[in-house]
Amino acid sequence: MASLSNSLQLKHGLTSWCPGSSSLTRRLPSSSIRFRSFVVAASSFSNDNREFVIVGGGNAAGYAARTFVEHGMADGKLCIVSKEAYAPYERPALTKGYLFPLDKKPARLPGFHTCVGSGGERQTPEWYKEKGIEMIYEDPVTGIDTEKQTLTTNSGKLLKYGSLIIATGCTASRFPDKIGGNLPGVHYIRDVADANSLISSLEKAQKVVIVGGGYIGMEVAAAAVAWKLDTSV
Ligand SMILES: Cc1cc2nc3c(=O)[nH]c(=O)nc-3n(C[C@H](O)[C@H](O)[C@H](O)COP(=O)(O)OP(=O)(O)OC[C@H]3O[C@@H](n4cnc5c(N)ncnc54)[C@H](O)[C@@H]3O)c2cc1C
Repeated sequence: MASLSNSLQLKHGLTSWCPGSSSLTRRLPSSSIRFRSFVVAASSFSNDNREFVIVGGGNAAGYAARTFVEHGMADGKLCIVSKEAYAPYERPALTKGYLFPLDKKPARLPGFHTCVGSGGERQTPEWYKEKGIEMIYEDPVTGIDTEKQTLTTNSGKLLKYGSLIIATGCTASRFPDKIGGNLPGVHYIRDVADANSLISSLEKAQKVVIVGGGYIGMEVAAAAVAWKLDTSV
């Protein structure tokens, strides 16, 4: 059983593969993304209806689910295994609206579920049910066995898959413990849980220091100013 972190080749994108069927795989020379024929795969495997499993319940998973539905390949065939407690959502909304104080009408789920960011349908948890997509929440994948084509989850589930898409995204880079990276009041922002934790600090804070002056840092600064806090970047 390979540990998931050791088996990931791409941290920032999608990869899919079909163990033992390399003839189904074609590689584009200019890209590290591998494509394969899902139609052939669907008839090649018997796996308790989980023809396709997506690991990771972020934006990529949500948009992929929409495409599976458009191709009639989701109903009873697609399963999404997510570490988070929520159906895929538009992560950019976290710093563009979620962090704002109540008087600024902050964004809240279900308002920003994928695919509203592209003007598409808002895919709520009910949408996945209606489309026959199995959603497993708050149960991160901890191991993959590519020979047996199975996944293990943190709660001990063993899931068989026909084709696997890894869409585990990325994480915020953290300061090491030895320089205080985990002290109370130090926050990172990547998901709703992080944003909720940051909001609970903003409610009590007087001074906010943001390390990192990219888009996300500047958006957090704008939110801190909306909370009328003394803010430094
Ligand atoms: C605050 C913020 C603001 C942003 N703003 C913008 C913007 O304005 N414009 C823009 O283009 N991009 C923006 N981005 C980046 C954009 O959100 C990402 O590019 C996008 O979320 C990537 O989608 P993804 O599905 O590949 O990965 P992610 O959204 O990171 O989703 C990965 C999912 O996989 C889950 N996961 C990880 N490991 C496991 C596991 N072992 N088992 C199960 N699940 C697992 C994670 O919990 C997560 O839910 C922003 C990002 C953040 C954090």
